[in-house]
Amino acid sequence: MKLVCKLCNLDVSKQVIELQDLKLLNKTDGQDLMPESFYIVANDEYFAPRDKGCFIINSKDVINSNFHSDQGRLNGCCGYDGCDGMNRVCLNNHEIGTECSDCWMSHFVAFNPESVRLV
Ligand SMILES: [Zn+2]
Repeated sequence: MKLVCKLCNLDVSKQVIELQDLKLLNKTDGQDLMPESFYIVANDEYFAPRDKGCFIINSKDVINSNFHSDQGRLNGCCGYDGCDGMNRVCLNNHEIGTECSDCWMSHFVAFNPESVRLV
């Protein structure tokens, strides 16, 4: 499986498969939440309500993506806190998701299900 931008059909992730064993999630602040090459659909147990239904992957599996041109979306301490709306766009500048990579959170990228689809 992979994620593609709904507007331009550009691949925005490498090949990923659904992570079945949620014990493999690493909730340590400052470290990657997801093992590479996997995705999960965000649920209430592990994610904030704003992420519900999002596709969650490791940032190393993101491709064909830039950061948002609006600096106001790119706040954070030493990474990106993702608290100001989607901060990731595809190469055609379509908003696709939110990278959370600040020091006080576990790191992941949440793709908005209205912006990307799994194929
Ligand atoms: Zn796009």
